[in-house]
Amino acid sequence: MSSKTLILGFTGLACLAGAGLLRQNSPPPQEPVMAIQQAWRAHQSPLSEALSESETARPAPSSSPLPSASATASATPVPSGSPSASPSPTPSPAPAGSASPTPFPAASTPQELHQKAIVVDTHVETPFLISEKNVRLRSNSGQVSLDKLREGGVDVVFFSIYVNPYKYKDQPRSQAEKIIGLLRKEIDANADLIELATSHADIQRIVAAGKIAGLMGMEGADPIGESLNNIDHFYKLGVRYLGPTWSTHTLMGDSSGPPKPRWNGLSKFGKMAVERMNQLGMLIDVSHLSDAAFKDVLTLSKQPVIASHSAVDGVRNHARNFSDDMLKLLALNGGVTGIVFYGPFLDASGKADLKRVVDHIDHAVKVGGIDHVGLGSDFDGLDLPPPTGLEDARRFPAITAELKARGYSNADVYKILGANFMRVFAQVLKD
Ligand SMILES: [Zn+2]
Repeated sequence: MSSKTLILGFTGLACLAGAGLLRQNSPPPQEPVMAIQQAWRAHQSPLSEALSESETARPAPSSSPLPSASATASATPVPSGSPSASPSPTPSPAPAGSASPTPFPAASTPQELHQKAIVVDTHVETPFLISEKNVRLRSNSGQVSLDKLREGGVDVVFFSIYVNPYKYKDQPRSQAEKIIGLLRKEIDANADLIELATSHADIQRIVAAGKIAGLMGMEGADPIGESLNNIDHFYKLGVRYLGPTWSTHTLMGDSSGPPKPRWNGLSKFGKMAVERMNQLGMLIDVSHLSDAAFKDVLTLSKQPVIASHSAVDGVRNHARNFSDDMLKLLALNGGVTGIVFYGPFLDASGKADLKRVVDHIDHAVKVGGIDHVGLGSDFDGLDLPPPTGLEDARRFPAITAELKARGYSNADVYKILGANFMRVFAQVLKD
């Protein structure tokens, strides 16, 4: 969810992380990447050691001949299929820890490529509309419905379990349970189109059956309070990622929202929570964290992490966005950033279009590598108009067309559309 005006009844507190809160308001200075890398290597995890060796041995930029982010706005699109567009047809090596590279199906047009791809969106806020506005999942006038997801070729979607920390200050846990119950009811009522997935095997089975795999991710740890048992509780209810914060600090750690930190990163409980999520096979979502809390997670986690909906400072400097150092750390960890579609994070004007979204993809690829970028729209959670050309979930094929127009190889497009996230799901989500 964006900072949103949906903080019902608490308008004075809205927009903590929205437009206007720039990075200069984040006090902690940038920690050098090398220091984190050293802490990482000292962490004595076979996975993290393997990752740090393989990832640092590899040239950081993408295998694609991408123009720099600053150049993309005026760059002449490279025609699809042009030989010069793909001088290195070999996909970049898969990170350590993943299986041998999956051969991607051949496709001769962007439409065919999109149709054959497993398309993953790691963040939609439709459950908020289901619980607050009695919206139906199958068909509705919002940005996400089963009809729209199908038309947009989206195969895997994480539904955000978001509990407003102001409105539900006294009962966040029961409110989260209520939202989960309502969402599961909607999924069950549409079993011909969607099934709930809680493992990588579930996702594969459901997608192979031609249905949408729906997963649940919790945005903000307010429902967790300060109890590790609550992490287990929501895991048992099917939640498969947890973002320690939304736009406010929690007992787990600091958000990028408020200008003043409370914990200077993760709290002690937050550090224990990271360990517990690793043990359970629950993804950690770093999208809303402060830079310091992000680095704490990246230092501690023995599993790849995800950013379910984030953008990058290299195109638009914003407290909520990732610096180049953060993108490099995420690549080192083996994780993936899902690029968000929220105007204020994408462009200083607050408005964006499809090309601006792909500018953020370009920059994330250029800095962190092609294996660490995906899509996380935040559809139904955007409190401002969506990017022009990406009005709702039906428009996902436009991203594929734009990536091809910019010269990405088919293999690289498959990775961005979903294969990167699928790699992480295979590594973290237990069957
Ligand atoms: Zn959010």
